[in-house]
Amino acid sequence: MSSPRVVVIGTGYVGLTTGACLASLGHTVVCADTDQGKVDRLTGGRVDILEPGLADLVTTGIANGRLSCVSTTEPWFAQFLGQAEMVFLCVPTPMGAGGLADLSILESVVKQISDVLPPGCTLVTKSTVPVGTATRLTWILRRDDVAVVSNPEFLREGTAVRDFLHPDRIVVGSACREAAGRVAALYASLSAPTVLTDAASAELIKYAANCFLAVKLSYANAIAELCDRAGADVVDVAEGMGYDRRIGQEFLAPGPGWGGSCLPKDTSALLQLADSLDFEFRLVRAAIDTNIRQHKRVVDKIRDVVTGTRLGSLSQVRLALLGLTFKAGTNDLRDSPALAVAALLREAGAELVAFDPAVHPGDGQAAGLPFALTDNAYQAARGVDAIVVLTEWPEFRELDWPRLAAAVRIPTVVDTRNLLDADSLIQAGFSWTGLGRPPHTAPRTTTSVRIDAAQTGESPFREALL
Ligand code: NAD
Repeated sequence: MSSPRVVVIGTGYVGLTTGACLASLGHTVVCADTDQGKVDRLTGGRVDILEPGLADLVTTGIANGRLSCVSTTEPWFAQFLGQAEMVFLCVPTPMGAGGLADLSILESVVKQISDVLPPGCTLVTKSTVPVGTATRLTWILRRDDVAVVSNPEFLREGTAVRDFLHPDRIVVGSACREAAGRVAALYASLSAPTVLTDAASAELIKYAANCFLAVKLSYANAIAELCDRAGADVVDVAEGMGYDRRIGQEFLAPGPGWGGSCLPKDTSALLQLADSLDFEFRLVRAAIDTNIRQHKRVVDKIRDVVTGTRLGSLSQVRLALLGLTFKAGTNDLRDSPALAVAALLREAGAELVAFDPAVHPGDGQAAGLPFALTDNAYQAARGVDAIVVLTEWPEFRELDWPRLAAAVRIPTVVDTRNLLDADSLIQAGFSWTGLGRPPHTAPRTTTSVRIDAAQTGESPFREALL
C-alpha cells in the first residue's frame, strides 16, 4: 500500500506530534494551523513547545520533504486538502459553558473544509470529543463520500513523541470499518494493540481512561491525607499498593492536585455526558471535589508549617514557589495546580515569587502571571519565609540547598511533591514537610526487600527494618 497523503489541522501538542511522528513513519504530512507565526517558526525548524525529540523530528521531516507546514489562510491549504486521503483534526476542545466540551473550533473547521475534501477522504478526530461527535460531524459534513473516524490520542505532555511512537494501544472507531482499517494501518509499524470499534465507544474510551486516572490521583491524595492524620508514610503505602499488578505503581504519588489541559476538562465533560443521560456519576464528581479540596489542603499545610497553626495568617508571608507547570517536562501552564495553589496563597495575603525551569520572565505565557517570576531558584529564595515545591522538576533535587538556606529568611521547605531528599535538606539546615509523610523526618525507616524463603527457611512475607 502506498503511503497516504495526510493533512493535520492544529499544530499544538497533539497535532504537531501527530504530524511529525507520522512523517517519521514514512507518511507524507502537511500540518496546518491558523497561527501564521507558528507556521513560519515551524517551517524554519523552530518548535515552541517543550517536547523531547519533537524539534528533531520536525527538522528531519521538513528536510526530507515528508513534512510541511502551512497556514490555513494560505491558498496552498485548500490545495493540500483537495488531495488529502486523511485529514486529522487536532484543534482545541476546551471546557465550555457548564463544563461541556466546546466544539465550536472543531465544527467550524469541518464546515470550512467540507466542500474541499476529495471523494474517498477520511476525516479523523484526534481531539478529545464527547460521545456522539462523529455522528454530529457526519451530519455537518453532509458528504456520503467522506468517512468520519474517531482516533483519540493518549500522549502525555513531556513524553509526547515517545508515547506516540510506543503507544500502549491505538483506538480507532467508526461506522465505516473500511475507513477505520485505513486509519489503523497508518500505525501498523508500531505493532501496538489496536482496538477497532464504533465511533461512540472510541470517543468514550478516551474520557473513561482520563477520568479513571483523575479518580486514581484523587484517591492517592486522599490516602496521603489519611497518612498525615494517622502518622503513616504515603511513600511506603503507595509502594505497597503499587506492587499489586491490578493497581500498578503509576499515578499513586500525591501532589497539589491534578491539572493540565486534559484532566480537568475531560472530567467535567464526562460528568456532563452522564448528566445528559440521567446518570449521576458520583465517583467522578467526588474526584473533582477532592481535587479542589487538595489545593486548599496544600495551602492549609503551608499555613500550618509557616505560622505554626492551621488558622494562622499568611498576610505578608513571603513564599518562594518552585515549579509552576502542571507537571515536570513541559512548559504548559494550562490549568496547573501550582497556579491554583498560588491563587489561594495570594488570596490569603502571601507575597509570592516563583521560579520554574521552563517558564522564563520574558515568555509570553509568563506575562499574565500575577506574581513575580525569577530566572533562578536562588533569587526566588531571597528573604522568604518558606520555599514551596509545586512541580516535580528533578533539577530541584540538584539545587545547592546550603546556598538556598543562606538566602532564605526562615529555612523551611514545604514539598508538595515529596520530591526532595529530606535528609539532605535537614543537613543543609532546612526543616522539611511533605504530603502524607511524617514531618521533618529524613530517611525512610522501612524498605521492602525480597527475601528468598529457601535461604532463610522462613516465610517470604517479611519486612526488613533498616
Ligand atoms: P494546543 O492548544 O496545544 O494546540 C491546538 C492548535 O490548534 C494550536 O496550534 C492552535 O493555533 C490551532 N488551532 C486553533 N484553531 C484552529 C483552527 N480553526 N484551524 C487550525 N488550527 C487551529 O492543543 P492540544 O493540547 O494539542 O490539544 C488538542 C486536542 O487534543 C484537544 O482536544 C485535547 O483535549 C486533545 N488532547 C490533548 C493532549 C495533551 O496532552 N495536550 C493529549 C491528548 C489529547
